[in-house]
Amino acid sequence: MNKPLSTAELNEIVTGLKKLSRNLWWSWNQEAQDFFHELSPRGWQNMFHNAVAVLHEVSDQELRARLQDTAFAGRTRNVLQEFNAYLNEQKTWAHTHAPQLQKNPVAYFSAEFGWHESLPISAGGLGILAGDHCKSASDLGLGFVGVGLFYREGYFQQAIDSNNWQTEYYNPVDPHNVPIEPLLDADGDRLVCQVEIGMNAVAFQVWRVNVGRISVYLLDTNLPENEQHFRDLTTRVYGGDSTTRIMQEMLLGIGGVRLLRRLGLEPSTFHMNEGHAAFLTLELIREKIAAGKKAAEAYAETKQECLFTTHTPVEAGHDRFTPELLNYAFQRFLPQLTIPFEDVLNLGRVHPGDSHEPFCMTVLALKFSRAANAVSELHGQVSRHMWQALYPGKTVDQVPIGHITNGIHLLGWMKGSVRQFWRKKLTESDATQETQFFRDKFGSDWSSAINHADFWQKMTDPQFVSDEELWALRYQLRRELIEFARRRLLLQSQRVTQGDFIRFDHLLNPDALTIGFARRFATYKRAPLIFQQFDNIVKLVRDKQRPVQFIFAGKAHPRDDDGKRFIQQIIHLSKHSELAGHLVFLENYDIHVARQMVSGCDIWLNNPRRPLEASGTSGMKASCHGCMDFSILDGWWREGYNGENGFAIGPDAHPDNVEEQDRVDSANLYRTLTEQVVPMFYNRDANGIPREWIKRMRHAMSTLVSQFTTDRMVKEYAHKYYLLK
Ligand SMILES: *Cc1c(COP(=O)(O)O)cnc(C)c1O
Repeated sequence: MNKPLSTAELNEIVTGLKKLSRNLWWSWNQEAQDFFHELSPRGWQNMFHNAVAVLHEVSDQELRARLQDTAFAGRTRNVLQEFNAYLNEQKTWAHTHAPQLQKNPVAYFSAEFGWHESLPISAGGLGILAGDHCKSASDLGLGFVGVGLFYREGYFQQAIDSNNWQTEYYNPVDPHNVPIEPLLDADGDRLVCQVEIGMNAVAFQVWRVNVGRISVYLLDTNLPENEQHFRDLTTRVYGGDSTTRIMQEMLLGIGGVRLLRRLGLEPSTFHMNEGHAAFLTLELIREKIAAGKKAAEAYAETKQECLFTTHTPVEAGHDRFTPELLNYAFQRFLPQLTIPFEDVLNLGRVHPGDSHEPFCMTVLALKFSRAANAVSELHGQVSRHMWQALYPGKTVDQVPIGHITNGIHLLGWMKGSVRQFWRKKLTESDATQETQFFRDKFGSDWSSAINHADFWQKMTDPQFVSDEELWALRYQLRRELIEFARRRLLLQSQRVTQGDFIRFDHLLNPDALTIGFARRFATYKRAPLIFQQFDNIVKLVRDKQRPVQFIFAGKAHPRDDDGKRFIQQIIHLSKHSELAGHLVFLENYDIHVARQMVSGCDIWLNNPRRPLEASGTSGMKASCHGCMDFSILDGWWREGYNGENGFAIGPDAHPDNVEEQDRVDSANLYRTLTEQVVPMFYNRDANGIPREWIKRMRHAMSTLVSQFTTDRMVKEYAHKYYLLK
C-alpha cells in the first residue's frame, strides 16, 4: 500500500506542472509529453499537443484526484525532477567552451520562430530553423536570448475549397492558452516599451517564451493606448503590404534592442537571422550617437557587434523599400539618429547615391556585420556572387560571406515511437558490449548520446540493431503515417461535398513504397515536377507487385497564385486521375504533419530548381527515422550525399536555362526512381526483408544524422562567430 500524497506534496507537484507547461522543454522530452497525453488523451490530440491548454482543460480538482494514483504521481515526479535537473545543470557545453557569453549573451533576432505546432507563428523553414537554433542553444547552455514578434493570428491555416483552391483562415492565438507568459516589470505590472514609427510613439508589450534554459521575447503592439492600425501591426506573420512590413521590422529591430536594454542586457553579439531584423543596427547607432560619439565611430562599433545570416538567393526574400516609404516610416526616429536622410538611404544601397536604387535590408545587414554567412556551401558561393558589387575591388572568392550549413534539433524532430526505440537501444537491460560503451561514455545523458556521431556510427553494426528490427520499425512508422493520413483525409472530405470521397481502406497501401513531399509551395520548389512524366508515374503506382504511392502537403503564400495552382493541380490528380487512391494531399501542413511525414515515408523527395534551395532542412528530419532522401544536389544534400546514403537526382551541376533544367531534372528524377529506388525497395530475401535497402538506410543514419543537427550548427556558430572578438 502506498501512502496518499499530502496536500503539501500535491501543491508542489501542481506548481511544478504549471511551470513545466510553460516551458517548451516538454516539446522535446518524451516522458513529459506522455504525462500530458495521459492526463487528457483527446485534449492532447485535439488541441495541437498543447501542454498549457491541457492543464487548463483539466480542473485542479481532477488533477489532484488523478495524482492520488501513486504510479501516475511517481511518473509525474520523475518528469519534474528531470526538468529541474535540466534547468539547473551547471556542467554544460558552454560552461567549458563559451563561459563569457553568460554575462554578455548572444541576442538572436528573427521575424519568425517555429518551435511547436501549438504556437503557429512561423511561415516555414526560416522559422523552424530559428526555433531549432534556440532549442540547441538551450541544450548547450549557451548565453543566449531571442527576440521576435507575437503574431496574434499567427500564420494562416489552410483549407481547400471545392475548386481545389487554397483558402486561408486565421485562428486567433490566445496568449493565455499557449506556452508563453507575459513579461512583467519589478512591480509586477506589464512591461511596456516604445518605438517611434511614422509620426507615432508605438507602445508594445512582451511575451516570454521559455525554451528550456533560455528566453525568447515576443513583441506585441496590441495595446489599448495604440491607434487601431498599430494595434494590428503584429496580427499576422508577413501580413499586409510593404508599409506593414517596414513597420513590423522597425518594431522587431529597434523595439528589440530597446527591450534588451530595459532588461539590463549587454549582448556581445546581435545575430540577425535574415534581413528582417536589420533595423536593429540603426538603433545601435542611435544609442552611440546619443552617447556623444561621431557617426563614423558609431558605425564602426556597431559593425563589430553584429552578425548576419542570409537565408535565400530568391529575390523576393530580400526586403526592399522605396525612399518615400522609408522617409514616412522613419520621420520621428530619424531626427534622433541625427544622420541626414540621404546618408541613411545609402546604408541600404549597393551603389550609394543611386537615387533609383531602393533601400535593401540585406545590404544594410551586410554593411553592419562583423561577419556574415550563408546556410550551405553552395549557398555561400551563390551569395558571394550575388553581393560582390557591395565589395568593390574584391574577387568573388574574397567577398566576406562564409557559410554554416543548417541543421535540425534532433530530439525535437524525432517521432515519439522512434525516441523510445533509440532510447531502449541505449539503455536495454541486457546490456550488450555496445550499450555498455555508451553508458560508460555518456552516463544517463541521453540527449548528448543521441546527438553524438559515435551513437549513429553504430548503425552499420547489425549486432547493435538488426535488419529485422529496423524493418519492423519502418513498417510501424509507415502504418502510423497512413492511419494519420486516412484520418486527416476523412476530415477533409467531410467538408467538401463533391461525392469524390474514397473509401478509407482504399486510400494508400501500408505495403507500398511511400514517397513524401512537403514544404512551402514556392514555385522554385517545383512540387508537381514528378508528374511531368504522368503516364510513367501511373504505371508505377498501378504496378501490383511493386506499387509506389505519394503523400504531398504544403502551403502556398496567400498572394502566390502560381503556388496555389500547383496545389490545385496535385489535388486534382489525387481525385480525378488514375493516381486516385495512390496520391494524397494533406491539408494544413505544420510541424505536426511534418513530423508524421518525415518519419512514415520511405523516401523524402526534394526537387528544387538548383541553386535556389539555400539549405533545406526537411530532408534532415528523415534519416533518424530510416526515411531516405531522394533529392537534387542542392543546399545541404550536396554536402550530405556520398553515393550510398540515399539517392541523388542528377549531377552536382545544373543547366543555366530554366526550361532545360526542368526537363533534365524531371528525366533524371524518373530514371533514378525506376532504376534504383523502386528495384532496391522491392528486392526482398526469403524473409521478405530488403537487405540492400536497409544497408543504405544504415549508411544514411551513420553519416547524416549527427552531422546535420543544430547541436553541431550552434557549436559552429559559437566557435566561428559568437566567440570571435
Ligand atoms: C522543416 C519544415 C520546413 C522546411 O522544409 P524545407 O524542405 O527546408 O523547405 C517548412 N515547414 C515546416 C512545417 C517544417 O517542419
